[in-house]
Amino acid sequence: MKTPSPYEEECLFCKKRILENCFASSLNFAAIYNIAPILPGHSLIIPKKHFISLIELPDDYIAEMMVFAKKATSVLKHVFECDGFDWTIQDGVSAGQTVPHLHLHIIPRKPLDLPESNEWFAKIPENEKQLIDSQHRERLSNDEYNAITSKLLLAAKCMGL
Ligand SMILES: [Zn+2]
Repeated sequence: MKTPSPYEEECLFCKKRILENCFASSLNFAAIYNIAPILPGHSLIIPKKHFISLIELPDDYIAEMMVFAKKATSVLKHVFECDGFDWTIQDGVSAGQTVPHLHLHIIPRKPLDLPESNEWFAKIPENEKQLIDSQHRERLSNDEYNAITSKLLLAAKCMGL
């Protein structure tokens, strides 16, 4: 069983508000919309409990996470009418993880949404190339964020999530 870390109370993704704003959840995971999406639909799958790394997750959590992420991706596909997705985890500081709470990025993709289909990194400023988790990208307003989350919530409920 995971022991609480000293900064757990300070963790961005452990804050109660985050889980209250999720658009879908499973027993141990929640799907939330990114406040600063790289592309429309950019969402995160996070464990409800504080885990920093994928390596710390029990095997049954891994299985649940992938199944839940697949379902959340179906919701995004429906709402954002996209035909592809980037899934990425920055696991560890050297990999660009800035929020020390495990999260899987799901980034919906459409044809010609970026100059090179395999290069969504191009959306990240040169000096922040590692920071997919960047706190510096332009953020949505509360109204924009709530409107998108409401739409996702409705779609997730309609799809049985
Ligand atoms: Zn946390």
